[in-house]
Amino acid sequence: MKILVVEDEIALAEALSEILKRNKYNVDAVYDGDDGLSYAMTGIYDCIILDIMLPKMNGIDVLRILRRKHISTPVLLLTAKSEVEDKINGLDSGADDFLTKPFITGELLARVRALTRRKGEVITDQFTFGDIALNKTTFSLSREGQFVKLSLKEFQIMEMLIANPRQLIPKERFIEKIWGYESDIEYNNVEVYISFLRKKLSAIESTVTIRTARGVGYFLEGGD
Ligand code: CA
Repeated sequence: MKILVVEDEIALAEALSEILKRNKYNVDAVYDGDDGLSYAMTGIYDCIILDIMLPKMNGIDVLRILRRKHISTPVLLLTAKSEVEDKINGLDSGADDFLTKPFITGELLARVRALTRRKGEVITDQFTFGDIALNKTTFSLSREGQFVKLSLKEFQIMEMLIANPRQLIPKERFIEKIWGYESDIEYNNVEVYISFLRKKLSAIESTVTIRTARGVGYFLEGGD
């Protein structure tokens, strides 16, 4: 389970990350609304813990943009006080739950568990785009009964592409999300996996293609 924490109070963000990691979650923490939005847009998180009062862009705006872009990741909003106005705005913008600061660890974990469980129940285990479906349980890519298995890295790349169809995803983003910031992987490793994925798309005779924006990154196209 991968969780994104967007909280500008560094001490709180670190405490949250620590608690979640101790409970076996995989956590990324960012400290302003701009970063929060760009991380959340990857669609790779199982839950987002989003503070409302944030520098650069507030949490409600981040949430509105996410929902407009069809990113359905469950969002737990953090409110500073029990502010009714914030809660109404948040619900209107597509928040799944609220937690009022200060909160106790047990309550936070219970909310996160509920949100990630709900996701599993409501959202299917596959992403679709054009004529293809990417299955999150079997790591396979399919089109009308034709299947190909993907390796973990291929799956992660395809998941990012299909969660953000027609949007350019820079190579750096793949590296950050899949290999991590500290990795010394070369950009051409991403190219290698993209070429594997293209072969697999053509193996199932899909009309969906992975397009290259030269020197920048990749995006998913087709299926119209
Ligand atoms: Ca704040």
